[in-house]
Amino acid sequence: MAEEVDVVIIGGGIAGASVAYFLAELGVRDVLVLERSTVAAGASGRASGLVVFCEANHPGQAALLKASADFYATWEQQIGGPSAIARVGALMPVSAVDLASLEREVGIMQAAGHDVRLLASDEIATVAPGWYIDDVAAAAYSPSSGYIDPPMVTTAIMNRARALGVRVYQGAEVEAIDVQGGQVTGVVANRGRITAPVVIIAAGAWSAPLGWLVGANLEVWPHRAHVMHLKPPAGMPFPFPVSGDDRNHVYFRPEPGGLVLAADETAEEYPEEPPADPDHFDPTPPEWYGRWVVQQLSRRMPAMRDAEIVGGHAGVLPKGPDNYPLLGAMQEARGLYCICDTGGNGMTASPGLGRALAEQIVYGKTFLDIHPFRPSRFAEHEPITQAYRHSHTEPPVSWTLEG
Ligand SMILES: Cc1cc2nc3c(=O)[nH]c(=O)nc-3n(C[C@H](O)[C@H](O)[C@H](O)COP(=O)(O)OP(=O)(O)OC[C@H]3O[C@@H](n4cnc5c(N)ncnc54)[C@H](O)[C@@H]3O)c2cc1C
Repeated sequence: MAEEVDVVIIGGGIAGASVAYFLAELGVRDVLVLERSTVAAGASGRASGLVVFCEANHPGQAALLKASADFYATWEQQIGGPSAIARVGALMPVSAVDLASLEREVGIMQAAGHDVRLLASDEIATVAPGWYIDDVAAAAYSPSSGYIDPPMVTTAIMNRARALGVRVYQGAEVEAIDVQGGQVTGVVANRGRITAPVVIIAAGAWSAPLGWLVGANLEVWPHRAHVMHLKPPAGMPFPFPVSGDDRNHVYFRPEPGGLVLAADETAEEYPEEPPADPDHFDPTPPEWYGRWVVQQLSRRMPAMRDAEIVGGHAGVLPKGPDNYPLLGAMQEARGLYCICDTGGNGMTASPGLGRALAEQIVYGKTFLDIHPFRPSRFAEHEPITQAYRHSHTEPPVSWTLEG
């Protein structure tokens, strides 16, 4: 059945939910989200849930993260219900080789208004008792960071958008994007044609094939990521700040019920992995991976040497060549936008990205210049060059297992 709406959003993950919510907040009522499966069926239902406002390499990235931090800080007023973040704080330790980079990144975040500061060893020991910190020169600390429950957060934002008038069709797969005379005119989904002057691609790791429908080369690469569920030994201090430990290439957080979630903090492919496919992937990490994570994590939290591996899961996230999001208008048609390539940071960044895109569509401008994040930047040979610190940190990742 043919329908006519103001905006179609393709994808019901955190990116689609965020832009739907902010569009509705700005008064755009006739918004339709088309989700081929169910809300949070993709990466947004499988993320680890760390929400960290400690570091940024690009002032625009810091500003987008500030909008996300403000959103999570006002969750009770905006979305309703208790705070979505468990505010255990975030602690990002570095060794001497990365200290100057960390100082610069924290400075960029402070300039954007984030509550983050550098801690010296004695303060780190207070915030994170029991951690091995002899190799740590300093750590970034953000008391307002922590972790969320990703599928709950995605669903709650989508439900608030629904309460503001947004409609969500699940089981609705977009198969074509209509363009006439250089203007987007709608989409064809498995349930029929929908007419709309604005279409937003928010399809996570599936975004590239949607771009191909209009001749766009969206640089979005599916990237498989694993997460281990570990039971710490009795007596280990709990909870503790969430952390990204560059030196040992792991990130970790406490999970309600006394577990620890931990995973590799690398952008590298796993050994002997087939290319990631968001439609067909093994949802269980391999056995060696659990042992590797315990090995790496126990270098920072020695008590975790005796952790029990109780489970794990995998997901496929959208990754881009420069590890920054694709955000804004697409050149291939007027009225066509994208919000994708959020990498391993999408639960944290998407509310800010969603607000920026919604304001850009409604007002033609937003709280920062999003031009650097435009999807055409790779074709124009203007990728963002400020590399993430942990993409060049020492030592390089080794997948070797001890013993
Ligand atoms: C294991 C793992 C751990 C992670 N940990 C963290 C973390 O700790 N912190 C953090 O901030 N981020 C984390 N992330 C990253 C985060 O999950 C992603 O960046 C984010 O979820 C991407 O959101 P999205 O809405 O762009 O994509 P998705 O959540 O994948 O949503 C895209 C949606 O589009 C739908 N879709 C695709 N094609 C079509 C079509 N043709 N028609 C209609 N619908 C379509 C899909 O079904 C899907 O539901 C992690 C990701 C993984 C996999």
